[in-house]
Amino acid sequence: MDYIEYDKEHLWHPYTSIKNPTKTYLVESADGVYIQLDSGEKLIDGMSSWWSTVHGYNNPILNEAINQQCQKMAHVMFGGLTHKPAIELAQKLVELSPENLQHVFLADSGSVSVEVALKMALQYQHCIGQPQRTKFMTPMGGYHGDTWHCMSVCDPQGGMHTLWNGRLNQQIFAPKPTTTFHQKWDDNNIDATSLIALFEQHADTLVAFIVEPIVQGAGGMHIYNPQYLKLARKLCDKYGVLLIADEIATGFYRTGKLFAVEHAAIQPDIMCVGKALTGGYMTLAAVLCSSEVALKIDTSLMHGPTFMGNPLACAVALASLNIFTQNPVQKRIVEIENILTEELEKARTNPNVQDVRVLGAIGVVEMKEPVNMAEITTKAVERGVWIRPFGKLVYVMPQYIITDEQLKHLCRSILEII
Ligand SMILES: *Cc1c(COP(=O)(O)O)cnc(C)c1O
Repeated sequence: MDYIEYDKEHLWHPYTSIKNPTKTYLVESADGVYIQLDSGEKLIDGMSSWWSTVHGYNNPILNEAINQQCQKMAHVMFGGLTHKPAIELAQKLVELSPENLQHVFLADSGSVSVEVALKMALQYQHCIGQPQRTKFMTPMGGYHGDTWHCMSVCDPQGGMHTLWNGRLNQQIFAPKPTTTFHQKWDDNNIDATSLIALFEQHADTLVAFIVEPIVQGAGGMHIYNPQYLKLARKLCDKYGVLLIADEIATGFYRTGKLFAVEHAAIQPDIMCVGKALTGGYMTLAAVLCSSEVALKIDTSLMHGPTFMGNPLACAVALASLNIFTQNPVQKRIVEIENILTEELEKARTNPNVQDVRVLGAIGVVEMKEPVNMAEITTKAVERGVWIRPFGKLVYVMPQYIITDEQLKHLCRSILEII
């Protein structure tokens, strides 16, 4: 059977069409930082399979967690039944997350967790006698998932809004924060004045402000100033608006802190985690919220996916979080950040490069023009690395287990290719 040919004709891949699909590579296996292609090439994964496989592929500890749980039960329904993997995972998440977050809703993907967070926030406002609050506010340049309401809070200039113009719920968009992570913050800067004005203008209709803390990921790999989040927290408090932190991409040390909200020392009212939650083994996400939110919702929260709290996913997530406890990674992330900075900063001498941004284990080279993804991917594969650029962005978010040499090879390959 010609697998690639069948794939091309019958299978959708992310953000592609069947009619005119982009090239796919057949993977045979994956181990540590390496993706083994069926055609023989071995690639250093520069993407952590979209921010998820932080501890590496075929990780013995995570394998063991799944194997053990599988002997007991792969799944039971969560309606009326509960189990230790879910309870222990919830306990761990409550322990690790900002102190005010005490309650956990287990969802089956990041997008679903954002749907639940939005629903939770709406229901909270309804229950406290604020049913006129129906709008969400979010900065431009954000990404919160692909399901319907998630799309409505994604960057309005991105493809989804353009495609579904007039059909999505109309939300309120704040300008994209412009002050960068290391820039000095001025209380009267444009980020501050525009956010303050929008909160004032829409004070009575806002349910929540939803934001990716510090790093806007799939919407543009944009890294902004922690003071922006601090200000958002203050304004949310002032106007009775909930703050939803979407940590699905940034959580679990990606930005150098366990959660990116820690850069701003704020506590969100609701927080979504996903992607790296299971060490990239299975799909699982969680919504955490404060007691203020959870207890004011005095009606049932009408959400309950079939695979809610799946025991295999919970067991492997717990094992993944325990790896962090046993082998703290903060020091390693600083080292990764230093190498990314040292290597990628060299790209600035390239006249086609617009900007270079690094934070934690995230390295971004922004070009002046959109890149040819297929061509870059081919050249990367030739050099034994796996990257997936989009728009003007060539970027890496390596696994935390990557060695210095592997990381340098990854960065140097990017410099050569661009
Ligand atoms: C990936 C992502 C999502 C969606 O998660 P899925 O598991 O792909 O549904 C939501 N928000 C952010 C910030 C993400 O990076």
